[in-house]
Amino acid sequence: MFLTPNVDTSKIAADKDYLVKLYTELHQSPELSLEEKETSKKLANELRKVGFEVTENFGGYGIVGILKNGKGPTILYRTDMDALPMYEKTGLTYKSEVEVPYNGGKVGTMHSCGHDIHMTNWVGTARYMASIKDQWKGTLMFIGQPAEEIGAGARAMLAAGLYEKFGVPDYGIGLHSSPSLPAGTVGLSDGYTMANSEFADIKVFGIGAHGATPHMSIDPVVTASMIVMELQTIASRSVKPIDDVVVTVGAIKGGTKHNIIPDEVTLQITMRTFTEEVRLLVHKRIEEIARGVAIAAGLPDDKMPEVIFREEFTPANFNNPVLIQSLRKSASKVLEANNILEAEPQMVAEDFSLYGKTEHQVPTALFWLGTVPDQRIQSGDLPGLHSPFYYPEPAKSLETGVTVVSQAMLDLFNQKD
Ligand SMILES: [Zn+2]
Ligand SMILES: [Zn+2]
Repeated sequence: MFLTPNVDTSKIAADKDYLVKLYTELHQSPELSLEEKETSKKLANELRKVGFEVTENFGGYGIVGILKNGKGPTILYRTDMDALPMYEKTGLTYKSEVEVPYNGGKVGTMHSCGHDIHMTNWVGTARYMASIKDQWKGTLMFIGQPAEEIGAGARAMLAAGLYEKFGVPDYGIGLHSSPSLPAGTVGLSDGYTMANSEFADIKVFGIGAHGATPHMSIDPVVTASMIVMELQTIASRSVKPIDDVVVTVGAIKGGTKHNIIPDEVTLQITMRTFTEEVRLLVHKRIEEIARGVAIAAGLPDDKMPEVIFREEFTPANFNNPVLIQSLRKSASKVLEANNILEAEPQMVAEDFSLYGKTEHQVPTALFWLGTVPDQRIQSGDLPGLHSPFYYPEPAKSLETGVTVVSQAMLDLFNQKD
């Protein structure tokens, strides 16, 4: 049974053809991080069409759309805009055929993280909210963020003075396409939902020699290998069993040839955590392990490994519990109860988290929007985000996203203190 919905679901359904067409256009013209020039222009035009005042090129190709409608709270709603460097292999009739120059060669581009769904939902919500201005009072702050995939866009927009120039929002909302939840559902959870994501490099030094005279060397390939194995004890022995942590060595680089022992090997590591305490413990253990293994290898003081933690990292996403409660209530007005799911925390990262991490402490929430077509759910073939085979079911995902976010906004605008 539905409770009486506040949003007019038939009106939202009537906009479906427009939105699916827009979705298809965005899907067929993906642009990589920091290159979202045409995409941002298109979105800016969509917002202008329905009465938003739009600022373009804000923090790169970022856009800020403001719709003022009397005295009331300000709600920020963010979409990201960038695609990934990969060839689409979905076989869809409307698949992306775009190829761009990349690292001296060529690469396909694809919205394999579903940012095209995010953008279309965002436009759909703007269109609907602008058409029912008699039902709410306040300010809509719609932001189109560049460069999410490289963790740079949110930071760039905040650094450009997003809150100083356009005001500090009372709430921040975002959604992300889910590659495992069915279209027609949403996944919500409060507290930490996505992890701190950091990168570190370890330069492991050694003393090189001919491959046939290992006794003349201190072999950094062996030292680096031992560091890789020792790093596995951070999760198993150093961090409390109930705390979440991932330490992954994604790349080992060193050497030139079969029979030369090199004098340097680099390890590239990603670390995922939720709390600051665990994050700093992981840093400490990485440094201790690198140094300890190097000492055991007999390296002198001036050849100790160099551990470089990248300073700018994506902090964990924290969903404000009160805001999530409100979102859940709003969703329950427009979706059947079995379509509102509890989402598990994940060790992936999203720079949406930053909008709630400024001194203003804006309450923010990023929820999952189910996107998977029914036949795929049944087959169990569920390619993840960033897979060349991932694709959403646009019509149903868009209808659900626009309905839930519009209802959430109406409820936030109309709540009594
Ligand atoms: Zn992504
Ligand atoms: Zn994404």
